[in-house]
Amino acid sequence: MPRSTPYTRFRTTLDAVMKKLNLSAAEKKLFSEPQHIHKAEITIKRDDGSKAAFPAFRVQFNNARGPYKGGIRFHPAADIEEVKALAALMALKTAVVNIPFGGSKGGVQMNPKELSRRELQEVSRAYIRAFLKVVGPDIDVPAPDVNTTPEIMAWMRDEFEKQTKSYSPAFITGKPLSYGGSLGRDTATARGGFYLIQELIDRAALDPQELKVAIQGFGNAGATMAHFLHNAGFTIVALSDSQGGIYSPEGIDPVRVEKYKRKTGAVAGEYCTGSVCDIKKMKMDGVQHITNEELLEISCDILIPAALDNVITEKNARKIKAKHILELANGPTTPEADQILEKRGIQVIPDILANAGGVTVSYFEWVQGRSGEQWTADRVDHELKRIMLDAYKAVRRQAYREKMSYRHAAFAVSIKRILDAMRARGWVIS
Ligand code: GLU
Repeated sequence: MPRSTPYTRFRTTLDAVMKKLNLSAAEKKLFSEPQHIHKAEITIKRDDGSKAAFPAFRVQFNNARGPYKGGIRFHPAADIEEVKALAALMALKTAVVNIPFGGSKGGVQMNPKELSRRELQEVSRAYIRAFLKVVGPDIDVPAPDVNTTPEIMAWMRDEFEKQTKSYSPAFITGKPLSYGGSLGRDTATARGGFYLIQELIDRAALDPQELKVAIQGFGNAGATMAHFLHNAGFTIVALSDSQGGIYSPEGIDPVRVEKYKRKTGAVAGEYCTGSVCDIKKMKMDGVQHITNEELLEISCDILIPAALDNVITEKNARKIKAKHILELANGPTTPEADQILEKRGIQVIPDILANAGGVTVSYFEWVQGRSGEQWTADRVDHELKRIMLDAYKAVRRQAYREKMSYRHAAFAVSIKRILDAMRARGWVIS
C-alpha cells in the first residue's frame, strides 16, 4: 500500500466526492493535481555567523475563482506533501464560503522556535524574494498559518514593496493593524467557528450551560475559541498545547490558563514543570494532567481539534465521546476515521467550513487594502457571520439532499462552484 501522506488522505476524500458527483475524466483531471508547485531553498546567516538552509514551498492549487490565496507555515513537518494538501484545502475553503479566491499554501520546513527574531525576519524576507515572481495582490495572496504571525506578515509586505518598488497593502493579509491589517482578523478563525457552534446549538435547541467542550491546541484559533465559548457559558473541560494539557470536569477558566501559558510557556504551567506535576495542587483544584491523545477521548459534547493534522485516526475514532467535532485545525481527521465517526453518528463540521472565518476576514482585509477603506469591527463581524451561515446552510442542504457527511457535502459544494467557474472560463469543454 502506498505511504499515507496528507495529500493521499486529501485525495481519498476528493476521489470519493468526485465519484458521487459523476465528474468526467477531464473534469477529474483538473482537480487532481496542483496547477503549480514552486520549490526553493532559503539560506540565511545565523546569529553565530554560520549559514543555515531550509526547504521552502509555494503550491498553487487552483485559481479558477480568483487569485490564489493561502497562508505560509513555518514547521518541521511542512514538506511538499503537506503543503500540497493544504493548498488544495484552501481552494475548496474559499469556494465553500464563496469568496473570489483560489487556493494555495506556503511552507518553510524548519523549527521557528530554534531561531532568534532576527533570523526569523531573515527567513521571512528570503521567502518573499524566493517566490517574488509568482506572488502578488492579483496573483497569489499569502497570509499567516501555523507559527506565522502579523509581525511576520508585516516583514513580508515590507520586503515585497521594497523588491517591487510599490505600495501594496493587498499583497498579504493577516497584517498588524498599524500596517494595513483589518479589525477582527486576529480573532476571525475562532469567531467564524463560534458562529457555526451557535447555529448548531440553536437548531438543536441545546443550552450552552449544559455543554462541555474540549479544545486541542492553544494557539491563536484554539485560545480565542476557548475565550468565546467560556464567555458564552459553555464549560471548557480540557485544554492542551504541544506539551500536553489539563482536564477538569468542573470547568477551566481560559483567562487563568492564558496567564500561566504566558508566564511558563505551557497550558499546564500552573501545575506542571515539564513532566513533574504538583499533584496536591491539582487535586485541590480538581484538575488532571492529560496528554494530547487523551484529550481527544475525553468525555465532552463538543471536541475542537485546533492544532495540527492527522490526530483523529482509525486508532482513536471509536473512543471519541464527543457528539460534535468542529475542526479548527486543517486536516485533523483521516478518511478512515471519518467513516467510523459517520457510522457512530458523530457530526463533524469539516475544516474547510469550520475554520474558513480566517480566510473570509483575509478577504475583507484584501478588499480594504485595494480600496483604501477601513471597515469597522461591527461591519467585519456582521459580514463574517452572514458568510459563515450562508456556507453552513449550503453544506447542510447538500448533506441532507444527497445523504452525505458534512465533509463530503462541503467538498461537493466547493467542487461544483470551482467547476462552474472553470466552465465559464472555457477550461472545461462539455
Ligand atoms: N491559514 C489560514 C487558513 O488555513 C488563513 C488563510 C488566509 O487567510 O489566507 O485558512
